[in-house]
Amino acid sequence: MNILPRLMYVFLALPINIPQSQFNKWDKLISRFIWESKKPRVRYTTLQLPKDKGGMALPNLKNYFYASQLRPLLYWCNDEYISRWKDIETSIPQYPIQASIGEREIPPQIKGQLNLFTTFTLEIWYSTVKKLKLKKEQGLLKWIAFDEKFYPGKLDPTFKSWTKKGITAICTVVKNGQMRSFQELKDAYNLQNHDFFKYLQIRDYYIRNIQENKDKIHPIIKVFTQSYNNNIKRLVLLLYCCLMESINESTQYVKAKWEKELNVEISEQMWLDMWKTTQTTTQSHSWREFTWKNQIRFFITPKITSKHKKIQQPCWRLCDNMNTNHTHIFWNCMKIQSFWGRIHSVLCKVLGYVVPPFISCVIPGTFGRICTCW
Ligand SMILES: [Zn+2]
Repeated sequence: MNILPRLMYVFLALPINIPQSQFNKWDKLISRFIWESKKPRVRYTTLQLPKDKGGMALPNLKNYFYASQLRPLLYWCNDEYISRWKDIETSIPQYPIQASIGEREIPPQIKGQLNLFTTFTLEIWYSTVKKLKLKKEQGLLKWIAFDEKFYPGKLDPTFKSWTKKGITAICTVVKNGQMRSFQELKDAYNLQNHDFFKYLQIRDYYIRNIQENKDKIHPIIKVFTQSYNNNIKRLVLLLYCCLMESINESTQYVKAKWEKELNVEISEQMWLDMWKTTQTTTQSHSWREFTWKNQIRFFITPKITSKHKKIQQPCWRLCDNMNTNHTHIFWNCMKIQSFWGRIHSVLCKVLGYVVPPFISCVIPGTFGRICTCW
């Protein structure tokens, strides 16, 4: 799709608000194009999921817009990135604008000093913080010397002088969720032995107010933390993936339908593995698409048609059964039992041992996982 790069150009170039109604309009246009103005067979939000979660990675324009607007914040944090626009945006006297990323709203001391564009960028960030429900871990982005809740920072000017040495955000003194040792910081930032007490003050504050299990830290905070230490690339994509991690949409409703029909329980891991298998077992795009369609229950079975038309519908294979569902069409139907029998015997021959009767192709990718009595 070459629509996304065109929109991305606008998203990246213009720091202006785009109302929700505009995103709805674009989504409707794309949906109409995909389904040729017919009734959609798969939810639009499901199509937007990554392929390994059962979607088709259709772009979520709103999240791309948010990711584009958040990109400058990462450049603010990265010392290696040098640009004229960055000088303009970060040149606020007495307060480093990067420190505001660790806050929940624009700090009062800089409110009147920001231009409209910078204000908009920060507002997008604060709304993202709320949407992603970021908690303590956002504190990793607070600047030690400018954190209102860290009282020693207000009283002792040494903490401000440390910002020139590179000790800026809390994440610069933390590694893998743990406060770095004093020796490490001494070597990295040229601290002296008499700085040890200040180190203890920061450590105590970090443990009490910010420290979080590293598995619980939201990926977007990890991206910001990385931007302080490295020159990371493909920022918009990274941010977009972080935003997509937090959407509530999933293919659980499809899993539940299969479980009901097959009368089996499919574990979460198995379900995710099945999506991965559909993407990796063949090079053929059309077969990948077919297996995805099968697993997502794309096909309109006689059962669905009979519901719509309120008339009994025969099985596609004319096996005398009426209103048949996906499981019947692709597995249970008497007309295809001999086909599955042949597949089963070939597999036993190839593998060299008798495999239990299985449902392997009803839901592609479940081979060897869901076994059932034949
Ligand atoms: Zn049938």
